Amino acid sequence: MSSGPFLRAPILSELGIDHGFGTRGSFEAAPARLARAQQVHGVRILEVQAEGQSDEADALFAISPGLAVGVVTADCVPVLLAARRPRPIVVAVHAGWRGSAREIAKSVVEHLQEAQGVWPGEWLAVIGPHIGPCCYEVDAPVRRAIRDEAVFARGERRDHWMLDLGALNQAQLVRAGIPEEQIARVGGCTFCQPENFASYRRDRGSGRMLHYLRVPNSA
Ligand SMILES: [Zn+2]
Repeated sequence: MSSGPFLRAPILSELGIDHGFGTRGSFEAAPARLARAQQVHGVRILEVQAEGQSDEADALFAISPGLAVGVVTADCVPVLLAARRPRPIVVAVHAGWRGSAREIAKSVVEHLQEAQGVWPGEWLAVIGPHIGPCCYEVDAPVRRAIRDEAVFARGERRDHWMLDLGALNQAQLVRAGIPEEQIARVGGCTFCQPENFASYRRDRGSGRMLHYLRVPNSA
């Protein structure tokens, strides 16, 4: 199978779930029947029932067979989740530092347990390429907004820290009840791998990547 500009996660491929984490060129290679939202660095989760652009949200889920949900990033963390029970369901999450500080990944799992009856232990979750702790320097306001001390390392500049946004989201998924062995990471650092990825910080806002997954057609 040719993967084109998309990276695949084995834990999703093994279940036959059509998905991809975008590298350069992915935004121009959007798959068919894709639904996206207007991302606003919030924590709203929205169900989509048809392809195209929906309302403002930073997490989109779908249960309609064959429909794909996607998020667009260039440094922020994309998280793709899939569960098969009580019915096939997929979620795409956009988590920058603001959404991560407000625990969007954790609230998605909690919301879908309540709204769709998905037990946290049913989810497979994959964290995609984002700006890594090697390159993501943040200042005091970001440090104050995020309570998880373990995801910060000392920065080179005074009153600056290196933030591991992927580890922060992974920790939230674990705290939400997803078993650690059902969470995977794909891709590298968007900032220090310019041959593969667009980076908002490095490229001053030009270029972005698309990440998506699709509700299977049959259970
Ligand atoms: Zn890096």
